[in-house]
Amino acid sequence: MSLLEAREIKKNFGKLTALKGASLSVESNEFHGLIGPNGSGKSTFMKCLVGAESPSSGSVWFDGVDISRSSSQARARRGMSLKFQITSVLPALSLYDNLLLALQGHSSLTELLFSRTRHRLHDEVMTALEKFKLADRATDSASELSHGQQQWLEIAMALASHPKVLLLDEPTGGMSLEERRITGELLMPIKKVCSLVIVEHDLDFIRDFCDRLTVLDQGAVLDTGTVAEIQNSSKVQEVYLRRV
Ligand code: ADP
Ligand code: MG
Repeated sequence: MSLLEAREIKKNFGKLTALKGASLSVESNEFHGLIGPNGSGKSTFMKCLVGAESPSSGSVWFDGVDISRSSSQARARRGMSLKFQITSVLPALSLYDNLLLALQGHSSLTELLFSRTRHRLHDEVMTALEKFKLADRATDSASELSHGQQQWLEIAMALASHPKVLLLDEPTGGMSLEERRITGELLMPIKKVCSLVIVEHDLDFIRDFCDRLTVLDQGAVLDTGTVAEIQNSSKVQEVYLRRV
């Protein structure tokens, strides 16, 4: 069984059907791209996976367990982490404190009372900041960062819980070309430790970094396969590439 499996997810918002029975499977250490035109249901699908929205029907399996009825907190504890399009960074706090809060969220209160934990947390904060090229900005407030750097801080925060799968919804939105390139470089090493599900409009980015793709169109999966398979898919060429 795959690490993450969504089976026949349907989602209605009143009369509107956002997802018509979409399925997805993601293996361990796989980078999986979710692409499709605006309004095709990508964000809704991601939210159904992590429990931020409840599907009208269908099931989600993670690590061999049916988590369809689990809260988003319970899913996070099992190892799912989502970074939304909208930022969750606290702008007035320093980068250090933002990351510390993200890490502390995953330590118990008793753990936090022991100074050894505080040392460990300090090391983890600094390691995470270094990985995302932000260590020299540790004491700056997050509001001073560029848009791209804020996104990196958020990815670092989403990784603080050591998830088995990280879900990113348009992480490079609003980034410069150079920031996009760096984002790809920063994400590559993550593959050793977790899987990635990424929604992205930049097809060059997707081509460079994803192992497999799922293409959504009007709430349904049009096709799924390797990047090469999707590039050669007549279904995708007909419907998706013509419209984007
Ligand atoms: P994408 O991320 O691919 O652009 P979305 O998942 O955001 O697409 O949206 C899919 C469809 O569902 C759109 O028609 C959108 O307007 C609708 N939708 C998304 N979220 C809601 C909501 N909370 N309430 C009502 N309609 C929604
Ligand atoms: Mg979206």
